[in-house]
Amino acid sequence: MKAHDGMYIDGAWRDAVGDGTIEVRNPADEQVIATVPAGTAADIDAAVRAARAALPGWRATAPAERAAKLAALVEQLKAHAEEIAETITAELGSPTAFATNVQTAMPIAVTASYAELAAEHAFEEQLGTSTVLHEPVGVVGAITPWNYPLHQITNKVAPALAAGCTVVLKPAEDTPLTAQLFAECVDAAGIPAGVFNLVTGLGTVAGQALAEHEGVDLVSFTGSTAVGRKIGAIAGGAVKRVALELGGKSANVILPGADLAKAVKVNVADVIRNSGQSCNALTRMLVHEDQYEEAVRLAAELVAKYTPGDPEDGASRLGPVVNEKQRDRVRGFITKGQEEGARLVAGGAEAPEGLESGYYVRPTVFADVTPDMTIAQEEIFGPVISIMKYRDEDEAVEIANGTVYGLAGGVWAKDQETAVAFAKKLDTGQVDINGGRFNLLAPFGGYKQSGVGRELGPHGLTEYLQTKSLQL
Ligand code: NAD
Repeated sequence: MKAHDGMYIDGAWRDAVGDGTIEVRNPADEQVIATVPAGTAADIDAAVRAARAALPGWRATAPAERAAKLAALVEQLKAHAEEIAETITAELGSPTAFATNVQTAMPIAVTASYAELAAEHAFEEQLGTSTVLHEPVGVVGAITPWNYPLHQITNKVAPALAAGCTVVLKPAEDTPLTAQLFAECVDAAGIPAGVFNLVTGLGTVAGQALAEHEGVDLVSFTGSTAVGRKIGAIAGGAVKRVALELGGKSANVILPGADLAKAVKVNVADVIRNSGQSCNALTRMLVHEDQYEEAVRLAAELVAKYTPGDPEDGASRLGPVVNEKQRDRVRGFITKGQEEGARLVAGGAEAPEGLESGYYVRPTVFADVTPDMTIAQEEIFGPVISIMKYRDEDEAVEIANGTVYGLAGGVWAKDQETAVAFAKKLDTGQVDINGGRFNLLAPFGGYKQSGVGRELGPHGLTEYLQTKSLQL
C-alpha cells in the first residue's frame, strides 16, 4: 500500500529524525502491507514547535475562515473516501461496506458538523458587565487508537481546529496509513502549515514524548484505561488540560414488556460490529429471569449467522480483529469465561473453521454470566457477548452500574417513558433508548473510569476552549 516514509510537519512531508520503522499488517492475512517511520522525541519536538509557531496566526483567524478551511477538508475527505475506506479495510480488517458507510462516512460527517459549529459558535458572550471570551486552549497533543482510525482522528482534530487550536497527532501503530491519508487531505484543503502535524510512532516513545512535551497545552487521548491513567498522571503533574476517552463494559438492560426479539437482535449486531472493537459496545445483555432462556436462544441463533470471513469479500459482515495480540487477548477472555463457569452457547476460543491464518475470532455468546466473573468486568474488545440474569429492576441497576466503567448503555422497555426513567439510574455517559439513534451532535464520553471530557458536537468543541473574562 502507499505509505509516506516521513512525518507531516509544518506543511510538508519531512524525513524522520531516526531510522526506526513500524510494519503495518493486514489482519486478514497477516501480511506486511507497508512500513512507516517510528517517530522519536525529536520528531515530536519538531512537530510541537511547528504547531506552536502556527498558533498565533491560526487562533487569530475569524471563525468563518476556520469553518471554510474545515469545509475544504470535508471536500478532500469526500474526494478520497474510496481510498480511505480501502486503507481502513487493509490495515484494520473492516468489511468493505462498514469501512465505507461507517468508518469513512461518519468522520466526514463529524468534520462537516465542525465546519458548521465553527461558524455558529458564540466565541464571545456578555455576562452582566463582563465580556467572556472563549479562546483556544493552544497546542493539542492528540493520541488516537486503531478501532475507528479516521473517526478517532476527526473527533479530536476537527473541533480543535474549529476552536483555533493547532494539533500534533500521534495515531495508533496499527493504522498509520489512514492517518497519512488524513494529513494529505489537510494539506490539499489549504490548511496553513503547522496547524496540523502528524508523527507516526510507538505509544511508549512518540506518544509519551507528546504527552510530556511542555509545548503541549492539552493532551487528548483515546485508548485503554491503563494508558489513559498514565497520560492523566503526566498531564496532572504538569497542570495541563487533559481529555480521556477510555474503555467500557456497557450494559444493555432489557426490561419486561420490551420487544425482546428486536432488543436481542440490535444488541447482537451492536457487539459484532467492528469485530467487537467499539468502546461503547453493549457487551453485557441484562435480561429478566422470566425471559432469560428465550434471550439466550435468540442470541445464539443470531450470532451463528455471522460467519467470520475476508473483509474484502462483500458478503462478509465480520472481519478479523486488528492484530495478533488482540486476537490472543480476546481468545484468552473466552477461555477464562469457560474456566470461571459461564455457559458457552455459541462460538469459542478456537480458530474459526478454514481461517487458521488471519486474526479471526469466533463470534461468541456466554450465558449464566455472574457479576463477579472476569468477562462481566473487563473490556474484551472482541465479538463476545455476556448475557446476565436479573430478578427485579433494582438488581438490574446494581449489575449495570457494577463495573469501574461508565461509557454507554442501553435500555429497552415497553415505552420510551419507562426506558428514560430507568436510564436516569445508570452511571454512564450515554444511553440508547429502545435502540437509540446515532446523533453526531450528542456529547460522547464516560462516567467513572471511562474517561474525562466529551467529544462530538458543541460539547466536543468547548473541550478545546478556555475562558477569559473582560471586566468592563
Ligand atoms: P492503547 O491505549 O495502548 O493505545 C492507544 C494509543 O495510545 C495508541 O496511539 C498508542 O500508541 C498510544 N500509547 C500507548 N502507550 C502509550 C504511552 N505510554 N504514552 C502515550 N501514548 C501511548 O490501546 P491499544 O493497545 O491499542 O488497545 C488495547 C485496549 O485498549 C483494547 O483492548 C481496548 O480495551 C482499549 N481500546 C479502547 C478504545 C476506545 O475507543 N476507548 C480504542 C482502542 C482500544
